[in-house]
Amino acid sequence: MSNKDIKEISQVSEELLCKYIHACHILHYHGLVDAYGHISVRLSPSTFLMSRYMAPPLVASTKDLVVYKVEDGEAVAADAQRGFSERFIHSETYKAYPKTQSVLHSHSLDVVPFSISSIPLQACFHRAGFLGTTVPVWDVADVYREYPSYNQDMKVTNTKLGSALAKSHGPAVNGQPKYPIVLMRGHGFVATSDMLEMTVLRGIYTAQNAKVQMAATGLGGQVRVLAEREGRETGKTGVVKPWPLWVLEVEDNSIYRNHLSKKE
Ligand SMILES: [Zn+2]
Repeated sequence: MSNKDIKEISQVSEELLCKYIHACHILHYHGLVDAYGHISVRLSPSTFLMSRYMAPPLVASTKDLVVYKVEDGEAVAADAQRGFSERFIHSETYKAYPKTQSVLHSHSLDVVPFSISSIPLQACFHRAGFLGTTVPVWDVADVYREYPSYNQDMKVTNTKLGSALAKSHGPAVNGQPKYPIVLMRGHGFVATSDMLEMTVLRGIYTAQNAKVQMAATGLGGQVRVLAEREGRETGKTGVVKPWPLWVLEVEDNSIYRNHLSKKE
C-alpha cells in the first residue's frame, strides 16, 4: 500500500476498489455480515475506505464508497453520503495500530455467545490458529460507567468508545495489535490484519472456530484447544488458495453486483 495521502476515490487503484467490493460480498456469502456489519481498508496513514451506509451485499460501485479520516472517523469530503454510525471502530483501530491495513466488524451469531459466556473463545482448529490462546472480550459497560450520559445502545458511535475498544486489542507489536480479534459483549467482534483479504479470512475462520468450539463443548467431554505454539505456527497460512474461490462464489451469484469486476 502506498504511503501517499489518498483523499479521493479517484486516487485509489481500481484493483483495490474491486477487491473491496468483493470483500463485502464474500463476508455476506459466508454469513459474517447481513444488512449490518462492515469492513474497511486503509488507504494511507491518515485515510481509509469504507462503503456508505448500506447493506454490504448491495455495495456495487465506486459511488457506494467513501474515504474517511483516521483522525476523527469523519468523511474527507464535506458532501459525502451518510456513513455507518460505528465507523469509529475502524478509525480508532487504524489510529492505535499504524500497520493495520484492514478492519472488519461483524455481528456473527456464531461468535456472539462467546462474548456473553464465561467460556472464552480459543483457537480450536488449525485454520483459526491466529486466535491464539487469548481472545479479549471488550465490555462497553466499562465506558458507560465513565460516561453515564451516553446512549447505552451497545454501539460504538464516537471516538471515545472506539478508542476504548481499540485498546482492548492490547499493545502494538510492530504496529499491529497483540490480539487481532476482539469480541464485543452482547454485540459482535472486530477482526484486524495487515491486508484486506487476510481480514476477511480471519472473520470467516473466527466464526468457524466458534462453531467448532460450540460443537465440541456440546459433546460433554473435555475440550482440548491449540497450544500457544500450535496456534502461532498454524496461523501463518495465507489467502492465496481461498481468495480466488471466494471471489468466484460471489461472482457466480446474481445477488451480488460488482461493476468494477471484469466479469460484469
Ligand atoms: Zn455493530
